[in-house]
Amino acid sequence: MSKAPFVIVGNGIAGVTAAATVASLIPDTRIPIYSSENYPYYRRPWLPDFLAGKYEVTDLYAYPESWYQKRQIQVHLDAPVASIDSASKTISLASGETVRYDKLLLACGGNAWIPPVQNTDIPGVFTLRTLDDALAIRAYAQKAKSAVIVGGGLLGLEAARGLRGTGLGVTVIEVFPRLLPRQLDEEGAAVLTRLIEDFGVKVVTGATVENVIGEDAAEGVELKNGQRLHGEMVLFSAGIRPDTTLAKAAGLTVNRGVVADAHMQTSDANIFVAGDMAEFDRRIYGIIPAAIEQARVAAANMISPNSATYEGTTPSNTLKVVEIDLTAMGIVNPEEPGYVAYRKSEPDKGVYKKLVFKDGALVGAILLGDRESVRPVTRLLARNAEIASLGPRLLEPDFDLKSLL
Ligand SMILES: Cc1cc2nc3c(=O)[nH]c(=O)nc-3n(C[C@H](O)[C@H](O)[C@H](O)COP(=O)(O)OP(=O)(O)OC[C@H]3O[C@@H](n4cnc5c(N)ncnc54)[C@H](O)[C@@H]3O)c2cc1C
Repeated sequence: MSKAPFVIVGNGIAGVTAAATVASLIPDTRIPIYSSENYPYYRRPWLPDFLAGKYEVTDLYAYPESWYQKRQIQVHLDAPVASIDSASKTISLASGETVRYDKLLLACGGNAWIPPVQNTDIPGVFTLRTLDDALAIRAYAQKAKSAVIVGGGLLGLEAARGLRGTGLGVTVIEVFPRLLPRQLDEEGAAVLTRLIEDFGVKVVTGATVENVIGEDAAEGVELKNGQRLHGEMVLFSAGIRPDTTLAKAAGLTVNRGVVADAHMQTSDANIFVAGDMAEFDRRIYGIIPAAIEQARVAAANMISPNSATYEGTTPSNTLKVVEIDLTAMGIVNPEEPGYVAYRKSEPDKGVYKKLVFKDGALVGAILLGDRESVRPVTRLLARNAEIASLGPRLLEPDFDLKSLL
């Protein structure tokens, strides 16, 4: 049985950030990371462009081998952890090996979710979470002419652009009445839809997919209203579910995700959690900035109890489609009263901007077609700048937002 003071499960951004944090706080510590996947940490956000053939596998790797060596981070690839015994403070690998820890970090991420749709287990049906998924999609796309993407969120649209880039005819289906329901409002989504359609991507909103058509392989999907949409590939992009299997079996408190306190500690004092599998304050973030912040806090507390506190992350999402500049931050669709919003819409120019205020302070923004304002607005939002009194002219192109910093 091997032993290490700090052991990490999962080599995504959360696991690797935690390992790097431990290495920076106490150098000369061997830090093992166990990974189900067979690749060193790679950039998931680049996978949609990988589909379009813009990158090769090794381009996705974030760090060279020397980066790990320097920090004594030992990544065990293709080494899934099968169970945790919190009483003896050991983990067991699927290979049968056991490892003893003083403090354990769970950073297992999430799995792509497929909504309740019939006939999803035939060839040609995919989800996009891992590099292996992307390789499988890329290979299949070579013999396909068209694809249906179920889900008009960020990832669905990025995948749509990626597959369109390979020459496929692409249809995006969204169950909500508009694209990017979490990041946009109706007006903004209308502007975005036009931009997406300009690539030749067909957009169908307010539609529920009921089953995948095809016997030996996918041929398309059938909607609840009976309409059939053709596509030899069907890619589900309907969100993720935290991977809580290990944590549940170990008896940790699990709600939708593994429940963490402000120290990113689970219900077991020796086990911490970070990233897409963590639920903090009833929230699962599912974004990289949150995974990084949580991992840093978890690592600090694994070394020195209660030395760091996680206070939540202000969500900021950028659509990574080269032709479109879209960033949505903070509260964009307030559901309670007491908010004020300024908007500027220029559909012909592909521009839609919105600033959301509460008690005069900036709490959210949508910036579509305005890359220049992203940096200053991000900073103004971070400090909840009290700028509502300046009025809608804040959104005019000649207003110098930087002068407010
Ligand atoms: C295509 C795509 C594009 C995205 N784009 C963006 C973006 O632009 N911006 C953004 O903020 N976020 C983006 N995201 C989301 C972002 O990738 C996630 O928030 C982030 O990866 C979460 O990191 P994580 O370390 O928690 O989990 P993961 O990255 O999922 O890593 C967890 C790892 O743990 C491994 N694991 C699971 N169980 C075990 C086990 N039992 N034993 C060993 N290993 C295990 C998994 O195989 C996986 O390798 C994107 C996601 C995808 C799929």
